[in-house]
Amino acid sequence: MTQTIINERIAALGYDYGGQAALRSAACNLCGAREHAIEVAERDRYGYPATFVVCGRCGLGYLSPRLSATQYAHFYSEIYRPLVSAYHGRRIDAETVQVEQRDYAAGLAAFLLPLLPSSPRTILDVGGSTGVVASVLAEHLNARATVLDPSPAELAVARTAGMETIAGLVEDFDPGERNWDLVLLCQTIDHLLDVRGTLAVLRRMTAPGGRAFVDIVDVDVLLRRTGRIQRAVKIDHPYYLTRPTAVALFTLTGFTIVAERITDDGHRGFVLARGPVGEPNWPALQASAAQFVANII
Ligand SMILES: [Zn+2]
Repeated sequence: MTQTIINERIAALGYDYGGQAALRSAACNLCGAREHAIEVAERDRYGYPATFVVCGRCGLGYLSPRLSATQYAHFYSEIYRPLVSAYHGRRIDAETVQVEQRDYAAGLAAFLLPLLPSSPRTILDVGGSTGVVASVLAEHLNARATVLDPSPAELAVARTAGMETIAGLVEDFDPGERNWDLVLLCQTIDHLLDVRGTLAVLRRMTAPGGRAFVDIVDVDVLLRRTGRIQRAVKIDHPYYLTRPTAVALFTLTGFTIVAERITDDGHRGFVLARGPVGEPNWPALQASAAQFVANII
């Protein structure tokens, strides 16, 4: 399949990303810096004019400007699945993603289950889509699963399968005093609009003695494998993490890493426990940020 055919299929969607994305980040979501964004790419893998910047102080990658929360809601309900279908040249929708999620869930269960200190009775899957991953783990553990997701159509599938569902974005969700023994954030963190705030809520939702699992697309690994940052940049990912930035975010939000893995497709997964809130090693983080930018350019 040639690039021209892919470009024509994407153009046929008529989505004007450049005309919509206008929200500029006032401060880096990790370190709070306001002046250190380094522009390193101006197109994403679909060809959209997406400006990718890296914070020179901490190395967090992000799109700026980007879509607002309302624009992202429209993007996910109308554009996202047709766009990835056009890009990959095959149908990708709520039905087909369940097949991929089953494979993902099997791999996650094999990795995660031996690492749990005790059998969780409750599982929360944040951004859990149709509930495939939550149900596979819940079945292995004989636990009760809850799925939090913004898509009503995908939640309906989870509800039919007997899971508790909560509609909405995690950024808007107030768990109150409620927590879960196992909290999952699978293939979701790069899609969030507030990574640091969400991880802080995730920690509150993780029961004392419980575990959280979070995975990132490690953009540094992807860059080294493909040689081009444009392959990693896509408008559905407002944020781009590396191992150093992920570790810094866990430290800032009170998580301790218990175990980690990297999969063939460049997803780096972390098993986390509640720990003390701390400060990352800022000079080391700045040095790894400079190295990351140098690798891109
Ligand atoms: Zn920063």
